[in-house]
Amino acid sequence: MAYENELKVALNAVKKALRLSGKVQSTCADIKVIEKKDQSPVTIADFGSQAVISLELFKWYPYDLILAEEEVNNLHSNQDLRRSVVNFVKGEIETVTELQIIEAIGVSTRKVETVKRFWVIDPIDGTKGFIRGEQYAIAMALVQKGEVVMGVMACPNFSFGAKCPDHGTGCIFHATKGKGAYMQSLKSDEDRKISVDSVIEAKEARLCESFERAHVLHETHEKISVMLGITEPPYRIDSQTKYAAVACGDASIYLRWPRNRRYREKIWDHAAGWIIVKEAGGEVTDLFGNPLDFTTGELLKKNFGILATNRHLHQSVLEAIRAII
Ligand code: AMP
Ligand code: MG
Repeated sequence: MAYENELKVALNAVKKALRLSGKVQSTCADIKVIEKKDQSPVTIADFGSQAVISLELFKWYPYDLILAEEEVNNLHSNQDLRRSVVNFVKGEIETVTELQIIEAIGVSTRKVETVKRFWVIDPIDGTKGFIRGEQYAIAMALVQKGEVVMGVMACPNFSFGAKCPDHGTGCIFHATKGKGAYMQSLKSDEDRKISVDSVIEAKEARLCESFERAHVLHETHEKISVMLGITEPPYRIDSQTKYAAVACGDASIYLRWPRNRRYREKIWDHAAGWIIVKEAGGEVTDLFGNPLDFTTGELLKKNFGILATNRHLHQSVLEAIRAII
């Protein structure tokens, strides 16, 4: 199967990163949050996870480029944080040196527009959820000639009721182009095929959105829900886990209307989620109904906002959005 080895490597990398982030959460009284230039938080786990995943990719695909969220500069001025990151990474990979860890974090390039193949990493997606002890995801995707061909997403605090194998243990989702979407529990490697729900009446839909109101216009989402006759309260989840919810039929709609009109989505917040929903039979576009364009580097410069649905409801939601625009 195409990308079979890449999938194996990505699953393994994500599991190591997951172990590291779990240890940070359970052993650090102080998670050492620092604020980045854009005022978003970053922690030991974000850097540690990025190091572990990059080191794993170096081992198997030393010639592939990596586009990852965290910038190593943010570690240079903070010795305490750097020391903690190094300790946690050594906890997962004993033989690695501090220099190799710092290099692995700093390997990310921003210049991928013209590159044939690159990996996208969001080491801790939903860092605010991670800090609150709620939902977060660890996500990786492979982009080939501008198209996402494989995605893996671990959602350690998410369980999908009866749909999740080993209910309550969290799940890993993955999808490969043309091969469908799957979920595993964190307790076993057994794949279970997933698909979107079959809701065709908008009023019966469950809509999910960001937990953080600083990120999206909850009030506009509510207007759209009212127009569609949706009565169930919105399902608020941090991170790309929202894509997973749509992919396995736990929600029918994921709406993301950025609070700031000039905000452009980051590729690492969407690449893995996009393919998981598409391969589960769903649809993903921006708020204008345009396909997501993954050829523009770090930012999805040609898109605004996100709409992911079970496909059946896509046009109805786009019509409601159009009426508001
Ligand atoms: P979510 O939990 O779905 O809101 O997604 C978390 C992601 O939101 C983070 O990984 C950030 O890249 C992204 N983000 C950060 N600031 C903003 C913002 N002001 N507007 C929209 N998204 C943001
Ligand atoms: Mg993110």
